[in-house]
Amino acid sequence: MSDQLFSVKDRVTLVSGGSRGIGAAIAQGFAERGAQVIITGREAETLAAAAKAMSSSANHAVAFEVCDVADANAVRETVAKVHRDYGRIDTLINVAGVNRRKRVQEVTEDDYDFIMDINLKGAFLLAQEVGRLMIAQKQGNQINIGSLNNYAPLTGVAPYAISKGGLLYMTRALALEWGPHGVRVNGLSPGFILTDLTRKLWSDPTMQAWAKTNTPLGRLGEVEDLIGTAIFLASDAAAFLTGQTILVDGGVSAGSNWPIPL
Ligand code: NDP
Repeated sequence: MSDQLFSVKDRVTLVSGGSRGIGAAIAQGFAERGAQVIITGREAETLAAAAKAMSSSANHAVAFEVCDVADANAVRETVAKVHRDYGRIDTLINVAGVNRRKRVQEVTEDDYDFIMDINLKGAFLLAQEVGRLMIAQKQGNQINIGSLNNYAPLTGVAPYAISKGGLLYMTRALALEWGPHGVRVNGLSPGFILTDLTRKLWSDPTMQAWAKTNTPLGRLGEVEDLIGTAIFLASDAAAFLTGQTILVDGGVSAGSNWPIPL
């Protein structure tokens, strides 16, 4: 990127859940624009393969750390290691997330804890640990990957929707406390994006037709659709932007269609 305003060149960028899907695409987008990217996930093998693939088009080799975000000790050790290796963290992108689709009456305690521990508690633990460094640095920014469920829950995903609603408030709460320290915290909420998390859902032709009808831009999103907004939020172009969550959803949240032609 030649325009300094939108540059993430040499920025130390930690991406949780960077091994696949949305996290991998965003990590690659940053790496291709000169950022020093470190991806995390739960499996060394998947991470190593992803980091290798991303490094082929990057200035700085993409690094990886195994870190289950639901494990507070692992989070602490990972952040300390990245800090030791690179001396600072400029951007944290909280992407790690899971879902289990079930009716409310069938959700088990394990389902609830699994989803909340990763999507909300894990995001908080990582944000907090990195936030401490950013406060000491007097600069930095964080991006939390939300969902359409931030604002209005979809059926069949209650714990997921609760976790993403919480993430919206976490984004605002951290922005309030950390703004005075020069640390910005924003959210990016994707619409309907085809990834491992959603492939089964979107392979159903009825669901595909429904998504197209309800997305003004007329298609499912692709992981690459999220890179530009993430770069913007991390860059100096967003220097006066904090506590906000931007929907990148092809217009789904803009309004509703009538079920009959006008
Ligand atoms: P994927 O299932 O493709 O990828 C999930 C990523 O999270 C993987 O890198 C996975 O790595 C990582 N992850 C899962 N659990 C943990 C954990 N405990 N610790 C660390 N990393 C973990 O999902 P998507 O790319 O679709 O989703 C990414 C984010 O985007 C999620 O937060 C999701 O809620 C959100 N989102 C997705 C949408 C979509 O339509 N796809 C729409 C709106 C939001 P590994 O399994 O190797 O540990």
